[in-house]
Amino acid sequence: MLGGTGDWMEQSEGIVLRCATGAYDVQVGDEVLTCRLRGNLKKELVYSTSGSRPQRVNRTRRLTARKAVVVGDRVRVSFTGNREGVIEEVLPRSSSFSRLGFRGQAHTIVSNIDLLVIVFACAEPRPDLWKLDRFLVTAHLSGLEALVVANKVDLVGEDGARAAFGEHLDAGYSVVLASARTLDGVEQLRVRLAGRVSAFVGPSGAGKSSLLNALDPNLRRATQAIGGVTFKGRHTTVAAELLPFAFGGWVADTPGLRQLDLPPADRSEVRDAFPELRALDRTCRFDDCRHDSEPGCAVKELVECGRLSERRYRSFLTLAEEAHARLSAASQAQK
Ligand code: GDP
Ligand code: ZN
Repeated sequence: MLGGTGDWMEQSEGIVLRCATGAYDVQVGDEVLTCRLRGNLKKELVYSTSGSRPQRVNRTRRLTARKAVVVGDRVRVSFTGNREGVIEEVLPRSSSFSRLGFRGQAHTIVSNIDLLVIVFACAEPRPDLWKLDRFLVTAHLSGLEALVVANKVDLVGEDGARAAFGEHLDAGYSVVLASARTLDGVEQLRVRLAGRVSAFVGPSGAGKSSLLNALDPNLRRATQAIGGVTFKGRHTTVAAELLPFAFGGWVADTPGLRQLDLPPADRSEVRDAFPELRALDRTCRFDDCRHDSEPGCAVKELVECGRLSERRYRSFLTLAEEAHARLSAASQAQK
């Protein structure tokens, strides 16, 4: 099969697991093909990453091959034999994560993540609920579904775990109680992860690597040494990649994702990231209530009478202020 001169070629859809210079590992069914890029893709195709507008190709900007295809992209490939193929087309992205490069340009590092798995330990280390809120708001503002995993349930028991994450359970989040040690909750997690592209985030020591190994022992993730010694920098040379789960689905192993930034947003978008506050839509006296010091604020009244968590409320104020400040800074920069 030479050339692609309009001849019929067998094409299949796949997902990009890894990128190296000029070569891509693409999973097609159960096979992983080493692919190169069709020449015209290297400079011509830029996909709109907007989720709401219809996806289309902008042919206006020149791209380097490195940016044209990233880990997580769904692609159409034609087989050239011997576990090799050619990427003919990149399908529209549903989401993309970027990191700022050294000249301040955003580089997409991974696309099509559709589930953020936020792992906290019930104990050792004690869960930092403010950090959990920050991850949840970041997921919401990035258009990602979030799943909270309360790991190390073996250390505190089910009641202890429900107490530790009570505010979030009350607020309506789905929290999976799990233990990488006893495998409690692991099958439930497999069901939630199957067929999707997920990314695991959370503080160091929460048990992300241990959970990944429990979910699929073939992954063989390096976990922290007993005694809490961390391997500093163990991820510094690792590029983004997708690891396929044996039960279906993929996990993005992307060092940059561990420091997710809160995106710029206005206060009402941040409010919507708090399910218990979203439920109070339009109950304040003023439609544009900031739920801060306005009279007739339904949110503050519920906090004062103890029906909403004061800590969650203060978390909202802090994150709303921060996201709003970023929005103002971004619009200033555009002027
Ligand atoms: P990561 O930094 O989030 O990837 O955390 P690791 O997977 O490296 O785990 C940190 C430490 O917690 C290791 O010593 C693990 O053995 C331990 N650990 C992980 N999961 C559990 C669990 O479910 N129960 C208990 N008791 N310890 C766990
Ligand atoms: Zn209000």
